[in-house]
Amino acid sequence: MTDKASVMNKIAEELENLTESPLYDYRMENDYHPVVGEGNPDADILFVGEAPGEKEAESGRPFVGASGRVLNELLETIDLDRKHVYITNVVKDRPPDNRDPYVDEIELYAPFLRRQIELIQPRVIATLGRFAMEFMLDYFDVPHHGQKISELHGQPIGVQTDYGEVTLVPLYHPAVALYSRNRRGTLEEDFQVLQRYL
Ligand code: URA
Repeated sequence: MTDKASVMNKIAEELENLTESPLYDYRMENDYHPVVGEGNPDADILFVGEAPGEKEAESGRPFVGASGRVLNELLETIDLDRKHVYITNVVKDRPPDNRDPYVDEIELYAPFLRRQIELIQPRVIATLGRFAMEFMLDYFDVPHHGQKISELHGQPIGVQTDYGEVTLVPLYHPAVALYSRNRRGTLEEDFQVLQRYL
């Protein structure tokens, strides 16, 4: 096992034992799992979603339900294999009934995402949905003055990190393609932006 994979396993183990999480009891009651993420820990592109849904919490894998199928199709449109990227979420346990994560939950899980970013050192971080976009913009201190995802989607934003320049690419959440054909078209166009970085 590579060093990176073993560090990722350590992060997964800590999440498994995160009894102080407000989502821990809900996880145990439902036989759910935390979702650390999956993919290549040496990936150039990191995808960040919001939080696991039901299918994800049942399987312990990110984006395996309906939105995961859309994500896989979008990756195929740019000939990108899911195995070559890394996919994770801001919050690693499923919030009840898919409600938005609370501030204390975000604060508890954020250091795990920070460690994953420092480990993977991706050149591109593609956010999936408004929640992940706002989280990453704040994380990198990008002023966004309440700008909406409808204004920022598909537009690369350069940010400086300890390990060099990273490009943030805000994308709509794949779930929007389940309700709107138009949005699916927009997502496909925005995914073309990622192709520049392959
Ligand atoms: N939605 C998310 O934001 N993340 C997942 O892992 C699945 C659905």
